[in-house]
Amino acid sequence: MSNENSKPGQDWRLMGQENYLKSVTLSWRKYARYSEKWDQDHCEFCSAKFMVEDYPDVLHEGYCTENQYRWICQKCFEDFKEQFDWKVIKSKDG
Ligand SMILES: [Zn+2]
Repeated sequence: MSNENSKPGQDWRLMGQENYLKSVTLSWRKYARYSEKWDQDHCEFCSAKFMVEDYPDVLHEGYCTENQYRWICQKCFEDFKEQFDWKVIKSKDG
């Protein structure tokens, strides 16, 4: 086994999100559907599942963009907040 493929400083979860998530404003919210047609969302980084319903291994709260279109789980938020320079505001409903 060699470690040649693991680049230091590059996390497997990073796939160009800095193009649309750099320096954005996030707020901590209870998960709500963005659209009636969608029953779930995924963390922009690790793909953890956000759902309204109670299922094993789903998240019900997380950090989201102001339009509630993109969601980030707490762990990824903590891991990337400095790199992405996020601004966190308190959500109006909570
Ligand atoms: Zn995540």
